[in-house]
Amino acid sequence: MNQSSAHTGFRIGHGYDLHRLDEHPPNGSGRPFILGGVQIEHSRGPVGHSDADALLHAITDALLGAIGEPDIGQLFPDTDPRHESQDSADFIKEAALRVASAGMQIVNLDATVICEQPKLGPHRDAIRENIARLLSIPAGSVNVKAKTHEGVDAVGEGRAIEVHCVVLLSTRESSGAI
Ligand code: MG
Repeated sequence: MNQSSAHTGFRIGHGYDLHRLDEHPPNGSGRPFILGGVQIEHSRGPVGHSDADALLHAITDALLGAIGEPDIGQLFPDTDPRHESQDSADFIKEAALRVASAGMQIVNLDATVICEQPKLGPHRDAIRENIARLLSIPAGSVNVKAKTHEGVDAVGEGRAIEVHCVVLLSTRESSGAI
């Protein structure tokens, strides 16, 4: 059974990511705060090997999970110097290519971002549109919700950002015509 015929009908995928938030250099190791490929002004930023975009990482893992592929950490190891400061758009685009190669297309994705600061409401539309652009799907197929952690634990204390994502795939209508 080849990859395409292994995935017929619908497939669901789940992704999760967390990055520590730290002050920017020289006081800490926080990178510029980037979420869904959109840079947002904030006194702290995510710590990570790549650009540390937790939202794009969670979506990438949801896409890979839906087609039963290895997760983002296996495809793009954080021990590989080639991925140092890498734009996470590269990761999500690779996942989208693998989805297409598996004969599937994205129906919709729904993500929940949990962080205390910054407030994401003003950036929500820009983030949705950028994710849709990266995946070549309508913005209406991308939903991003934001919550706080009510001030408790590391996320609530502003020391981490957390993202959950689910994605639904369906068999491509013109499967094979990539
Ligand atoms: Mg990550």
